[in-house]
Amino acid sequence: MKKLLILGGILTMFIMLFACGGKNDNVLVVSTSANFPPYEYKEGNKIVGIDADIAEVIAEKLGKKVKWMDMEFASVLASIVSGKSDIALAGLTITEERKNNVDFSEPYATSVQKVIVKKNGDVKSIDDLSNGKLIGVQSGTTGDVYATDDFGEESVQRYSKFVDAIQALKVGKLDAVIVDEQVAIKLVEEVGGNDLDILSTSYAEEEYAIAITKGNTELLNSINDIIRSMKSDGTLNNIVSKYIN
Ligand code: GLN
Repeated sequence: MKKLLILGGILTMFIMLFACGGKNDNVLVVSTSANFPPYEYKEGNKIVGIDADIAEVIAEKLGKKVKWMDMEFASVLASIVSGKSDIALAGLTITEERKNNVDFSEPYATSVQKVIVKKNGDVKSIDDLSNGKLIGVQSGTTGDVYATDDFGEESVQRYSKFVDAIQALKVGKLDAVIVDEQVAIKLVEEVGGNDLDILSTSYAEEEYAIAITKGNTELLNSINDIIRSMKSDGTLNNIVSKYIN
């Protein structure tokens, strides 16, 4: 029994060492999914974009350095729940459901979900999506959740990256892709060639915020203070206009 207790103790120490391994006081561990231009994407090995710049300002004001954890979007919220990361900046939409698992900062942006379709294809409006069309989404996004609710599981094809969904649309494997507006604009520009269009009607309106481990009120309050000051002193606007005309 005693041996078992000692073994248990050693094991606990190891687990704690591991759990803390990625963290240290001078570091702000930030989860993201860097395939979401203009908010986060890669230039070479560097993560850049609106969220990346916001993270840098926050870290600087907290006296820390950003340590990025880049992952599939579907894992981003879990990394906050488990405490592997301190915060997540990933064009994250505030939803009531997500609020059960993480805390959200004040919003720093508004966005809308848009529908990308084939130019001159048969999807001309959002209503057309209900006629047994196949809709591509990025797994775990609000687009995924809303499309599944509205059009049914069998109408939704999930991808780990938006860009793969858009490629699939381009080659005719899908009828539409639902994605956040600014990202839709960028990705259609980058991979759409001349084949794709964005429907003018918006599918859903949303707000982006930073996700923080539930109950970490101190960090939440500091981040809210920083966001407020970034809004009032123009820093946020400057960052946004660097990436969006
Ligand atoms: N805004 C969407 C969401 O929060 C998509 C975010 C993303 O794909 N990075 O679900």
